[in-house]
Amino acid sequence: MQELWGRKVLKREIETIKNIEKKSQKLLTMQEVSEKTIQCLRCGQIHSKNTVQLVTEHYYCPKCIQLGRVDTSQKFYYLPEPTPVKRTVHFAWDGTLTDGQQAVSDDLLASIKNHESRMIWAVTGAGKTEMLFKTIHYSLECGYRVAIASPRVDVCLELFPRIHAVFPEEPAILLHGKMEECYRYTKLLVCTTHQLLRFFHAFDVLIIDEVDAFPFVGNQLLQYGVKQAIKKNSSLVYLTATPTKELTKKTDKNELKTSILPARYHRRILPVPKIKWCHQWYKKIKKGNTPKALVAIIHSLVIKNDVLIFCPSISLMEQLKGAVEKKFPEVALACVHSQDPERLEKVLKMRNKEYRILMTSTILERGVTFDGVSVIVLGANHPVFATSALVQIAGRVDRRMDYTAGEVWFLHDGCTKAMKEAIKQIKKMNTLGIERGLIDDM
Ligand SMILES: [Zn+2]
Repeated sequence: MQELWGRKVLKREIETIKNIEKKSQKLLTMQEVSEKTIQCLRCGQIHSKNTVQLVTEHYYCPKCIQLGRVDTSQKFYYLPEPTPVKRTVHFAWDGTLTDGQQAVSDDLLASIKNHESRMIWAVTGAGKTEMLFKTIHYSLECGYRVAIASPRVDVCLELFPRIHAVFPEEPAILLHGKMEECYRYTKLLVCTTHQLLRFFHAFDVLIIDEVDAFPFVGNQLLQYGVKQAIKKNSSLVYLTATPTKELTKKTDKNELKTSILPARYHRRILPVPKIKWCHQWYKKIKKGNTPKALVAIIHSLVIKNDVLIFCPSISLMEQLKGAVEKKFPEVALACVHSQDPERLEKVLKMRNKEYRILMTSTILERGVTFDGVSVIVLGANHPVFATSALVQIAGRVDRRMDYTAGEVWFLHDGCTKAMKEAIKQIKKMNTLGIERGLIDDM
């Protein structure tokens, strides 16, 4: 029956369990809010009754239907989490933290001990996962149930083996929409934020990585899922390099404690984007030309490093590819985007230096590290490049220990608020890093 601890599941999801009716508690799947409205208790969405009525006169929720249909003819089966019992957990990490990381790690541990929530605002490439290890270890030894959730499957896939390596004897599970492994009860989980919708009062510590990333940001369904998944007396930890306004407002009002790590582990400043006017870039590319400003910058960058070129749309990128190939016939280059079936292979080839230039949609804005790259944002004034996207993109440069003089360029034909804000945020973090003695002179 452990499968039901801290979970709320529909009968068809647990058909293998015998006598389920007798053994478990039942929870409502939907609840009337008013005479005309009804709320789904899995995703929190409130519906007008007349839009979600079935022929059986029951109501259902269309919003979270991809997890299996919830309707008022069903109940959730649930069992409460057992009370935490102290235990010993093998901890196999012998790395060291920088002074900056150590301070954040200490803050976080103190928050968990006080059952408080905290935001960790750490610059791109700061090494944020390592800062979690001590807290996860402490929590597991208290008998707590711990989940690390991310809106992005890629992040979960990368995170899980790292966590498992640190707690090699601890049963752990990775949960996401496409997994084939069956659910089983563990005290340690890595999952997508969507998977949290299946939990109920389960976690003592819930860490949400990339809290500002799509699809979590501004998504009420996922935020409802988080609130349902944590225990009453628990700690919620937000990890981000680019916090949303909503989160920074909470910090400013002292509603959410925040630790800022303004410097990377290698003690160099974050590369500050340089901006360059690129006259009518959109029109020129549509006509099959390569803007002069772009050619000049590729020339200057490709001598020292490989180059990532971020483009605002896939069609534009494909047109540009042909034009750039003509200008740089000797340079190996490729295009990649989210619908590309060869996406993973292309990223690997770029890592292995088989390409010198990789053109990409915003798909590579986060979660990837390449050795020795410079970055160009072509059409940085396009609305797809929000402040957080620009900060993340700039954060792809100079992540490794060895310095390669990578650069960041924003090419535009009309500076936007997002561009100015991104540069301001990066400079602010550099200033803070210098003030705190976390950055060395170059
Ligand atoms: Zn729902």
